[in-house]
Amino acid sequence: MKIERPAAQTAVPAGEGVAPTPADPAQVRLARDEGSDDLLKHVELLAPRLGVAASLFMALRCRHKETASHSLRVTLTAAAWSLHMGLSDEQRDVVEIAALLHDLGKLGVPDSILLKAGPLTPEEAVVMCRNRRRATDILRESCNSAAVLAIVAAAPAWFDGRFPGVPLAGEQIPLGSRILSIVDAFDAMTHDQPYRAAMTKERALAELARNAGTQFDPKLVKLFADFHREDHTRLHLDVARRWLQSSGALGGIWRPAVMDQLPSTGMDVLFQNKLVDNMRDAAVFVDAKMQILAWNPGAERMTGIAGGAARGRILLPSMVDMRTESGTIALDDESPIEEAICLGEQRLRRLVLKGRDGVDLSVEIHVVPVGGSDGAIMGAAVLLHDVSPELSLEARCQSLHEMATRDPLTNVANRAEFNRVHEMFVVAHLERRRPCSLILTDIDHFKQVNDTYGHPAGDEVLKAFARLLKGSCRSGDLVARYGGEEFVLLCADTPRQVAAVRAESIRRTLSQMAQGHLDGRAVTASFGVTEIQPGDTPSSMVARSDRALYQAKESGRNCVIVIGTGLSGEPGQQEESAAPFRTGKNVILEQDLASPVPMSILIEQLRGFVADHQAEIVTVDENVTRLKIGGGWFFRRRGDRRVPLFVDLAFRDVVQENEDLGKRRVETQIHVSVVLQRARDRRRTDAVDLARQLVASLKSYLMAAENHGQEPTSLGERPGSSGDSK
Ligand code: GH3
Ligand code: MG
Ligand code: MG
Repeated sequence: MKIERPAAQTAVPAGEGVAPTPADPAQVRLARDEGSDDLLKHVELLAPRLGVAASLFMALRCRHKETASHSLRVTLTAAAWSLHMGLSDEQRDVVEIAALLHDLGKLGVPDSILLKAGPLTPEEAVVMCRNRRRATDILRESCNSAAVLAIVAAAPAWFDGRFPGVPLAGEQIPLGSRILSIVDAFDAMTHDQPYRAAMTKERALAELARNAGTQFDPKLVKLFADFHREDHTRLHLDVARRWLQSSGALGGIWRPAVMDQLPSTGMDVLFQNKLVDNMRDAAVFVDAKMQILAWNPGAERMTGIAGGAARGRILLPSMVDMRTESGTIALDDESPIEEAICLGEQRLRRLVLKGRDGVDLSVEIHVVPVGGSDGAIMGAAVLLHDVSPELSLEARCQSLHEMATRDPLTNVANRAEFNRVHEMFVVAHLERRRPCSLILTDIDHFKQVNDTYGHPAGDEVLKAFARLLKGSCRSGDLVARYGGEEFVLLCADTPRQVAAVRAESIRRTLSQMAQGHLDGRAVTASFGVTEIQPGDTPSSMVARSDRALYQAKESGRNCVIVIGTGLSGEPGQQEESAAPFRTGKNVILEQDLASPVPMSILIEQLRGFVADHQAEIVTVDENVTRLKIGGGWFFRRRGDRRVPLFVDLAFRDVVQENEDLGKRRVETQIHVSVVLQRARDRRRTDAVDLARQLVASLKSYLMAAENHGQEPTSLGERPGSSGDSK
């Protein structure tokens, strides 16, 4: 309930209606239907008392009817509760005006947020919050009452002072704001919202109680609960009587309008004409039949149609070749001007029209219906604002972004963009334990292509290859030029087997594709494929695919090689032991692993691990190997300090006997110790994390799982522990 959305439905809260008293029609109306348009008629009834507030409220109603209904309900409840609490007439006046207009800021909230049928994103909530604060800005222009302004400004405040941007807490918050905050939240909760259904009153009261002391004033929450236990009929009638009787009582709250101060010699018209004539925007006035009454010089400049030629004509979209941005012709009966006049509501849209010199012009059209004193629509004021400069700025930003992320020759992502996206891929896929694969490909003998047909022909081949790669992408994948004639294809949510099939299909297509710039000859490419595996970093994954590509080149080119165990190859899903057994100060992680793979094959796997982690083999001693890891595997940021880690591996072959089944199974057991060079290294915590990641990666390469005890029959002597003393 932290940030409440505007009331969007107008359901009547059960039990809050007032028993009708047939003798007094005004009271009957007031008591009857809080959610319908009837409710809004009260404002018309109260207009003399509300003064400028009535028109501000009507503006809110035109903008968003549901918010207006919500505000009116909040006003009624706040008025009845204030009466119940025995607040003075003056206090009640300001609380009522503040309640009626507290949501005025929503006039400025874009439709996409105001009318959104679902929960707001954090960014949208910020926009909503910011506009809430605008209510005070709008009111300040016409309101003389510091008390009203203070209540509206502090209405979003939290009792514990933690609401951002409103640095008030406890009793520093005006009483009216604390009242309004409770009634506002209660009304929002007990009415349907686009993002959730209405709560019962009991639940809403419980919710207020839950947030008492943090969001709401705890004493007032208790009083509000007491107020709800009582019958409100009497209170509502008293409120209605006061509202109807004290006509004009609120006059002091409102500032006289500036125009009222001008001498009534038509000077206001003079000012208005001057403004309209000198506007850069086009301003057009039409009557209810859309016949043009006024066409300012801005409109002449924008459309090339002179005022004399325009006046008297019907302003149909076809007159200025008005279209939507997607290019469909706006039919004359889809005119936003006609819509605004028929519905009596403002329209704001982005459109394209034919400009003065026949060139298309992007404009924002704002149509404001104009009503007479009897409420009937007399026509509309149409404002057209040229948005081309803003659009070209947007386009320039877009093209700067493209320049920074695209390879200009092939128009696929460049290496920097690949690095950025790949890093996110690795983190996201490991977190979600979803496979993703990397295809690294390099055109075979491309130097010969350049040497034989020239560099420009080579460029065309690169472009054609990039197109082919893009064509085999699915959404979420990324194609990038890794450098020269080397490309990568990052395949989201794809295990290596599937990636290999895609690579094979690309390979086959390329090898059969006649290249126009090479006299119809085709080129071939080699492919290295790998899938993400536990413990991977972007660089270990790229290194593995590079090794696969190298093997493809070694195997005669024009083929696909897959390396790695992938996520599914990980034997067992159990967590790594939380508290690794430590034997010495320098050993930061120890683990016993078991792999079903024979030792001879494991050595090959270990070579891959060494290559992909840029490790160094320090010693190889019969069954014990020591590796040093300190290279680019984990240090990716410039600021990273290098903590070299040593990984000691002690191997032994063991045989598992299963007497019941009479079977023997050979497996390799590996004792892993990760050792820090200095025992008291200040970066020890980081190193432990790295060691964990390293052992997870090692497990993938060696296809090993943690060995949880069960002493097997030994085929040879277990070598001594690999040494915390080294
Ligand atoms: P291999 O099969 O081993 O990959 O042989 P190769 O000839 O393709 O590889 P090598 O690395 O020897 O040559 C790559 C060539 O790619 C050399 C370089 O001139 C060419 N190249 C790199 N970038 C471009 C480019 O933007 N346009 C053109 N036309 N050629 C490029
Ligand atoms: Mg090549
Ligand atoms: Mg190359």
